[in-house]
Amino acid sequence: MSLDTVKIADGFSHYMPKEYVDLVERGPYGRQVKVSEMGSFKELLEEHPMCAGCAMTLFIRLTMVGLPNPEHTIIIGTAGCGRLALSQANIPFVYGNYGDTNAVASGLKRGLSIRHENQPKDVVVMAGDGGLVDIGFSALMHSWFRKEKFTTIMLDNEVYGNTGGQESGMTTKGMVLKMAPFGKKFEKMDVIGLAKTAGLPYIVRLAPTNPTRIASVIRKAVLIAREIGPTYVQAYTSCNIEYAIPTPKVMDDARAVEKDRYGFMEIISDEAKEYLARVEKENKKTAAAS
Ligand code: SF4
Repeated sequence: MSLDTVKIADGFSHYMPKEYVDLVERGPYGRQVKVSEMGSFKELLEEHPMCAGCAMTLFIRLTMVGLPNPEHTIIIGTAGCGRLALSQANIPFVYGNYGDTNAVASGLKRGLSIRHENQPKDVVVMAGDGGLVDIGFSALMHSWFRKEKFTTIMLDNEVYGNTGGQESGMTTKGMVLKMAPFGKKFEKMDVIGLAKTAGLPYIVRLAPTNPTRIASVIRKAVLIAREIGPTYVQAYTSCNIEYAIPTPKVMDDARAVEKDRYGFMEIISDEAKEYLARVEKENKKTAAAS
């Protein structure tokens, strides 16, 4: 995709659905929108079939605000709850088979870099904990150790929510779930530790409690992956169905989990820090000149 393929040809606006005209004229294409502006622009994701109050949908919606160039971004997902919303957003979505999201992303990113030498194309994998570290573990690790330049975002709801409540590697030890009636026998997998071992230049763990921080983290993760190397964002996105969290209490749960055990953690390499500073300086210069 590019701005040229999004915009409406002269004289056709009148015939296009109002939603599409709104998206082109008041959407986030071609400009960096902010969380504080939400409600004043047409968002990339507005309707979805996920459960009411699901924290994952809030998080996905905020990631779309953080994308630096949505018109040049492709998202890759797989089976699981998140793809129900991702596949309805106004951004190209590739449905990877279970387990191969990061292999597909590696090939796609390399191909796009050859095809569009002068236009960065951002590739973002957004998938659940089961899809990434159980079934997709091998492709995830190889993409990191090979230093493939794209962002991986884990929607960590600590369960297979879409298939009725099986434990995943990211479920906490001892947790009893519908399909794990005796409680999980081993610890939550330390994927942050694996990301550190692989030497990723940007690693973040966060809960969906601070919208501005989410958008800022996603922007940084995508920009750093564009030039420096693979980036990883692990987001606690509770499953209110399988964890029986009443919808009005979803944000209370996010705040409690963040405080008790998830926290906010951001690791950035010196090289990535310098690169970001350069990019933001350039952006300011361009904005001042226009
Ligand atoms: S099953 Fe859980 S994770 Fe999936 S949409 Fe419903 S609340 Fe969200």
